Amino acid sequence: MDCFTFEDFSRFLFALKYTAGKHRSQRRKDAARTPFVNHPVEVAELLWRAGEVRDMTVLVAALLHDVVEDTETGPEEIRDLFGKDVLAIVLEVTDDKNLSRTRRKELQVLHAPHLSPGAGLVKIADKICNVRDIAWSPPLDWSRQRRAEYLTWAEEVVNGVRTYNRGLDTAFRNVLAEGRKELEKA
Ligand code: ZN
Repeated sequence: MDCFTFEDFSRFLFALKYTAGKHRSQRRKDAARTPFVNHPVEVAELLWRAGEVRDMTVLVAALLHDVVEDTETGPEEIRDLFGKDVLAIVLEVTDDKNLSRTRRKELQVLHAPHLSPGAGLVKIADKICNVRDIAWSPPLDWSRQRRAEYLTWAEEVVNGVRTYNRGLDTAFRNVLAEGRKELEKA
């Protein structure tokens, strides 16, 4: 059994509070207008449970993985509060919002094979959560075709990731297969 220190738990809890604060006014565009912060919490929990990831740097990075991309937060702040290793993972999974959506999606496919092991884990867990959201609680204005294309793209990204984690891989294959069935019903 892995053992966490007092320090580890404090850091994780602080990251949880920090990400909740940063994303506090953001909502998804699904029917329930789900608070956005549910997403990074789900990614961290999935890494812990399905992936059995016990590396605190990866778990903290999972909580913070969308903070730089989706809020007005500079990388320095993440580095100062959580350290350079957490920041490195966060930046590896941060898209450049100055680029078009199409280009960002192409780059995720191209970058996937080059992700560090920690960033690879966060990327796979992120895609599991996103596929689940797109299949079962999609943005209201997304057509079935757009949702199906999203699943195809997510599969392409995950197939490119070199980090292998059996629990996450199984979870991804399952959510993808179930998600496709769900879309056929729609
Ligand atoms: Zn995410």
